[in-house]
Amino acid sequence: MINIEHLYKEYDNGLRVLNDVNAQINKGEIISIIGPSGTGKSTFLRCLNLLESPTGGKIEVNGINILDSKTDIYKIRQKMGMVFQSFNLFSHLMVIENLMLGPTKLLGLSKQEAFNQGISLLETVGLADKLYAYPDELSGGQKQRVAIARTLAMKPEIILFDEPTSALDPTMVGEVLAVIKKLATQGLTMLIVTHEMKFARDVSSRIFYMDEGVIYEQGTPEQLFENPKKAKTKAFINRMKTLSFKIKNSKFDFYEMFSQIQDFCIKQMLNLKQANIVNLLHEELLINMLTKKFSNVESVLAISENQDVEITINYVGEKFDPLLCDEFEDLSKTIVKNASKEYTHQYENLTNIITLKI
Ligand code: ADP
Ligand code: MG
Repeated sequence: MINIEHLYKEYDNGLRVLNDVNAQINKGEIISIIGPSGTGKSTFLRCLNLLESPTGGKIEVNGINILDSKTDIYKIRQKMGMVFQSFNLFSHLMVIENLMLGPTKLLGLSKQEAFNQGISLLETVGLADKLYAYPDELSGGQKQRVAIARTLAMKPEIILFDEPTSALDPTMVGEVLAVIKKLATQGLTMLIVTHEMKFARDVSSRIFYMDEGVIYEQGTPEQLFENPKKAKTKAFINRMKTLSFKIKNSKFDFYEMFSQIQDFCIKQMLNLKQANIVNLLHEELLINMLTKKFSNVESVLAISENQDVEITINYVGEKFDPLLCDEFEDLSKTIVKNASKEYTHQYENLTNIITLKI
């Protein structure tokens, strides 16, 4: 139903926020988009319904390229409703008027039709007795439910939710999620940016984990939450803070890396001894071993709230476990073995993955 190919978005200040996003979304799918803030989740949704214009790539909805200048933007927006974090209701209009405005102005419904539809939608979101209330008389949770009803009033095929519960008092999150869950069973296609992990897991057919301006990893809720493949995904799901490096070759500025690691470790409340071990492991594995042999080595350092430390190193090429080869000094290998609690090497899809626990 939605086909996204090589989507790029660069803001005027030169910041490239979407960096080759590709996705296919089928009719009726419920997709939750998770990921750290600032990674382009809102920008992605806003590009889909053309609140932002992408700087490159293709978006097809039901086979129609919506970035084509001949495409009717208003028609696309009607097909693709959006629910925002801040509800954006018209405060000078009563609830029912908020729900009648779009359908009468844009869909050609009569006032009576729009009114009847409004009542039935308010029943759907549990607000049948708030017809004549003004938005200011409602709680945050109720306002958001009205906003959802207003989106539904335009008969969209796709609904985009951008953190629909993050402006709400914690006591009201549940009522809004319950309404979204109910809609999920009614055949609508939905993309939901959310930080509510349990909800995402319960409601979604697929999860997109966004990071670095791309869909960094995706899968079913089980795949993503129970068996994330990539270090950053895993760290995000386990609420770990991460620091990552991409080391092109041995000319990389390792001294800067060491000082960043030191700062990061201290910020995450490791003691000096642990911080030194973290640096030592990076030094042995990256400088004295892997970057001598491989280019484009990636490392991710992840530290949890209770100071569990994990280092994951990826490099592409032949299967190669540095601790089992003859090329490197025994001293380096001994240091790596002794300084880490656990060392594993895996090889999958031409990628070597080393995981170290400290
Ligand atoms: P997320 O929703 O994942 O938190 P956003 O899509 O809101 O991320 O933002 C991604 C990045 O783009 C951020 O660094 C943000 O500051 C930047 N950004 C967002 N909107 C604009 C804009 N209109 N102009 C310039 N930069 C922007
Ligand atoms: Mg956002």
